[in-house]
Amino acid sequence: MSLAPILPGATVGVLGSGQLGRMFAIAARRLGYRVHTFSPDYDTPTGQIADVEVRAAYDDLDAVRAFASKVDVVTFEFENVSFACTEAAAQMAPVRPGGNVLHTTQHRKREKQFLARQGMPVAEFALVSSPEDLRDAVARIGTPAVLKTAGFGYDGKGQTKITSDSDLDAAWVATGGRESILEAFVDFEMEVSVIAARGTDGAFDHYGTVRNDHVRHILDVTSAPAAVSEDIRREAVDITRTVMEALDVVGVLCVEFFLTRSGRLIVNELAPRPHNSGHYTVDACITSQFEQQLRAVCGLPLGSPELLRPAAMANLLGDLWPPHWESALAMPDVKLHLYGKTEARPGRKMGHLTAMAGTAEEAATRVRAARESL
Ligand code: AMP
Repeated sequence: MSLAPILPGATVGVLGSGQLGRMFAIAARRLGYRVHTFSPDYDTPTGQIADVEVRAAYDDLDAVRAFASKVDVVTFEFENVSFACTEAAAQMAPVRPGGNVLHTTQHRKREKQFLARQGMPVAEFALVSSPEDLRDAVARIGTPAVLKTAGFGYDGKGQTKITSDSDLDAAWVATGGRESILEAFVDFEMEVSVIAARGTDGAFDHYGTVRNDHVRHILDVTSAPAAVSEDIRREAVDITRTVMEALDVVGVLCVEFFLTRSGRLIVNELAPRPHNSGHYTVDACITSQFEQQLRAVCGLPLGSPELLRPAAMANLLGDLWPPHWESALAMPDVKLHLYGKTEARPGRKMGHLTAMAGTAEEAATRVRAARESL
């Protein structure tokens, strides 16, 4: 496989068609690339920006091969595609990051085992594949704990909190009888994440630590930078770098962490792509996480991740539809992003607001006020 840079004018293929692909496509278009997107849907957030929108199932491997044969590099915005899918694409074009990265990170068991093998700090966990396993795991790990299905979960989907009086049989049934992991509940002070990029030549750069506040397991507000010590910031970045090197990632990856009340970092999970907690970079950094993904997967030099002003991002979920745009648009230092989704459902990510201010705390207050005003 050639490592020659894939230059502007070339075509980038994106597996998946949501908002991450949309913002990636906007960054790619701005740099003069063509974009093709592949997903089972039509008139998608990414498809509305791309040159070509291919509609086919991820397991239609002939369609995947045909898609990959028309592009110079394949990347993705949706990581729950099968290994067979990325292998089929890789027969026709470089896939970055590689299918091995998705294979590890799309499955909680493989991801946790990988992290533990690398000596990374993770919450105590046990593999569960029957009601008896669950009882043994609860006896060993204690409560509170969280039962998570091993595959295809995100935004808290497929998760059940186990307390001392939980009905374990019911919790097992809630997993649909699927392979799961039981994880100790972490009493955290703060959740933080690090988004970083790694190039084809191994070059590494990162956006530092940002603070993430969740509501009902879904990211609500990110503030940048996070108010953590320099030691914590350095440790979080070192962990991210170690993970990316061990997985040989070419592209962008996000590591989500818990920071415990005793000041320990614990890795929660990995996402081998741009992440919701990096959307603020579009407005507030010299190079956005999406342009950085493009640069990394095309073998170009990484751009500067420098933060121009403290910023905060608030997600706009379908619950608030229809909003009154004018009020937020009238606020200086607040930027509105919408993903072109026609159907607003509760919990569905429809867009986000970014606010900039003198400090991350002020930016968070401002972005919450802007969202309130909708
Ligand atoms: P996840 O899908 O695993 O990222 O979980 C979504 C959110 O649920 C996290 O960002 C946390 O806010 C919460 N959560 C997940 N696992 C745990 C845990 N072991 N302890 C405490 N909170 C958790």
